[in-house]
Amino acid sequence: MLRLTELRLPLDHPPQALEETVRERLSLAPDALESFSVFRRGHDARRRSAIKLVYTVDCVVKEEAAVLARFRAEHPNNPHVTIAPDMSWQPPVTQAEGARLASQPEYRRPVVIGAGPCGFMAALMLARMGLRPLLLERGKVVRERTVDTFALWRRAELTPESNVQFGEGGAGTFSDGKLYSQVRDPRFLGRRVLEEFVKAGAPEEILYLAHPHIGTFRLVSMVEHIRAEIEAAGGEYRFGTRVDGLEMEAGTRRITGVRTASGEVIAADHVVMAVGHSARDTFAMLHAAGVQMQTKPFSIGVRIEHPQSVIDTAQFGPSAGNDLLGAAEYRLVHHASNGRGVYSFCMCPGGTVVAATSEVGQVVTNGMSQYSRAERNANSGMVVDLRPGEDYPDEPLAGIEFQRHWERQAFLAGGSNYNAPAQRVGDFLAGRPSTTLGAVVPSYKPGVTPTDLSKCLPAFAVEALREALPRFDRKLRGFAMEDAVMTGVETRTSSPLRLPRAADGHSIGTPGLYPAGEGAGYAGGILSAGIDGIRIAEAVALNMAGRPAEG
Ligand code: FAD
Repeated sequence: MLRLTELRLPLDHPPQALEETVRERLSLAPDALESFSVFRRGHDARRRSAIKLVYTVDCVVKEEAAVLARFRAEHPNNPHVTIAPDMSWQPPVTQAEGARLASQPEYRRPVVIGAGPCGFMAALMLARMGLRPLLLERGKVVRERTVDTFALWRRAELTPESNVQFGEGGAGTFSDGKLYSQVRDPRFLGRRVLEEFVKAGAPEEILYLAHPHIGTFRLVSMVEHIRAEIEAAGGEYRFGTRVDGLEMEAGTRRITGVRTASGEVIAADHVVMAVGHSARDTFAMLHAAGVQMQTKPFSIGVRIEHPQSVIDTAQFGPSAGNDLLGAAEYRLVHHASNGRGVYSFCMCPGGTVVAATSEVGQVVTNGMSQYSRAERNANSGMVVDLRPGEDYPDEPLAGIEFQRHWERQAFLAGGSNYNAPAQRVGDFLAGRPSTTLGAVVPSYKPGVTPTDLSKCLPAFAVEALREALPRFDRKLRGFAMEDAVMTGVETRTSSPLRLPRAADGHSIGTPGLYPAGEGAGYAGGILSAGIDGIRIAEAVALNMAGRPAEG
């Protein structure tokens, strides 16, 4: 199969134009194109008056080798026609081999802690390899978790074990469900994650859109289908089961099991630790148990909201509102003169800002959308990078204390009732507190309190944001509009620490423990967490089968 990249067509091209462009690119005879499919579709909106759709197409042609040779001879410097790579995934341990291992009397099932995208992808792959994983999740099954999450948003009632961060589906369940990532993925594991998501009910378009998303409702049912798959393949879930301790062999520190909050000890030789970036108590437990960990930079800032129509017009000009383009996204970066990087994070077109704390007495913001992205406002994190060792001590748990400090300040500034502190951009830039808000109605629930956001951000972050917003306005007209609303604080941009792994995936110094996903510092987002879940399942399976890790 041949892969053709950079096929550019106008936004309103007729359906047959793509096939014609494929034929033209390859100078094909009329009957030489057997079939073709869109591998990726993105758009180029740099010229707003002439936005282009940009396709990558896979096609089957007669006499492929000859077609390719002719193309290369005629266009020696054109890199846009290649052999399509093999993107299939082969399990390193077959189902039969895994089932044989699992039938041994002394067999101990691999334990996966955390039912987020990393944990459920790891469990799914282990189950498919016949290894019957046991998945332990501190939170609740996703539908019950939804009720608890809405209780914070509607009635300001937080359930610390069941919320936006904790429960089946993990942190990204109530999200925009953006499914793209910038991680290097030479083995196309991301494709495998997306294929599993489609099998579990996600729309097929996620396989070819350059910036796919699935939105909250679909994520919820997808997560349920994945659970059914895991159970059908011999895996098991236990909800309401928080892991509070590790069992290790004295001397070697080899893992022999885990201890749950109820005191039960579950014997295991292989434990995947996929607990996400908000499992602060679990990190403290791991630190006390001597598991190696290091600080990792993350960021702090606010959520910013604009009318989606302002962003659509700024990005797409006269094509704003075109169905193929959808609600416009943006990605902004500014290097401030105080040395800090300011960037947009987790942009949610047509979405809402959500209360995302998992601890009592704290306020944290994040964003979500439905599949339709049809809400009035666009939101994104506007965050400033942090430096361990300068902004807080370079000690593993210090980043968590830093987060907690600013999340508490936000809680106080919001009125100590889970309202978020909010400020108009005009007031923030002028250095005066907001007393009322303007035309942009903030979407954060349970509510917001107009105030001065500089009370809940480090001074360097306030300074960097004040410099960045007018710069962003030059790139995206309207971005620094007076009535745009900022709510704080955005602190859970990524994990504040990293649990280093050896080449074969285990925690350095603690054999049998496999740190994985966002919490361990190996992912940032749903897709990359899923990719890491596959990688770590491979590492566990190979170890269980007594085979060396693959390069
Ligand atoms: P998590 O998803 O955090 O899962 C960890 C799981 O472990 C949780 O279910 C938790 O309850 C469980 N757990 C923790 N401690 C224990 C313990 N001791 N015992 C048992 N279980 C435990 N990313 C995107 O790519 N796109 C988006 O649109 C997007 N939007 C987001 C919106 C919101 C509101 C939030 C909060 C996050 C969003 N993210 C998004 C980030 C994304 O959710 C995370 O990157 C991703 O979920 C990380 O996956 P993970 O499996 O590593 O960890």
